[in-house]
Amino acid sequence: MPELPEVETTKNDLIDLGFIGQEIVDFKCHWDNILENDTCQNFKSFLVHEKLLKLWRRAKYIVFELSNSKYLVVHLRMTGQFAKPKLDYEHLKHEHVHIQFEDNRWLVYKDTRKFGKFTIVSDIDAYFKHLGPEPLLDSFTDKIFDQCLGKTKGNIKSRLLNQLVVAGLGNIYVDEALYLSHILPTRMVKDVKPFERKLLRKSIQKVLSDGLDNMGTSLGTGEGNYLSVSGRRGQNKQRLKVFRREGLECFDCKSIILKVKLASRGTHYCPKCQS
Ligand SMILES: [Zn+2]
Repeated sequence: MPELPEVETTKNDLIDLGFIGQEIVDFKCHWDNILENDTCQNFKSFLVHEKLLKLWRRAKYIVFELSNSKYLVVHLRMTGQFAKPKLDYEHLKHEHVHIQFEDNRWLVYKDTRKFGKFTIVSDIDAYFKHLGPEPLLDSFTDKIFDQCLGKTKGNIKSRLLNQLVVAGLGNIYVDEALYLSHILPTRMVKDVKPFERKLLRKSIQKVLSDGLDNMGTSLGTGEGNYLSVSGRRGQNKQRLKVFRREGLECFDCKSIILKVKLASRGTHYCPKCQS
């Protein structure tokens, strides 16, 4: 599932395509369930003849800011992807949304598992008000992180997956950040000490910035795996220390990396480095 580094890379690729400042001239959707609480016809009437003013990211959402003061908000969920634009309209398998801009190019949205969501939003602040802080901003301080983490009884892994605590984290980068901070994923949040919280905040920033520098993490080779808009694989898999490395040796202490289920997600850790 795309997390902050993959969504940010996708957003940057979309900016590079040069659609900003152009008018949307057509909109087609072939799987209405992707459109949140609305029909293809209504989406079309909201979007067509509007200019794309800005493209930005918040948490794992991509925001298309439009000239009618509305926002098209896209969440890629499991396997959503924007693919290379096409000059001629065609509808291939797994392609569910096509948006045409005034230079005639069609922006294509693909999604093999079809869990992605497109939403038209009027009040963007209200829509995002429940999200936690952006971890790569300077405003993500030790104090803010400590407040968001709180002192709950739950385990630290589940807490970090909660988008109200830190926006944009998912399974890969949570496991990696906990490894880097030497914290066992099953530890109760209330037992994570102040110095560990500081280390954890730094580790979250480190694994996310590395992920971003490497243009995201592409895991498998199937069609649903993360690819950038230009079809490039993220190179961050080679940097992962624990995620999907169960049964292999820890790079640091040579113990065998273990995998357990936590918060119904596969959770990877080193029993020695994170004890
Ligand atoms: Zn180890």
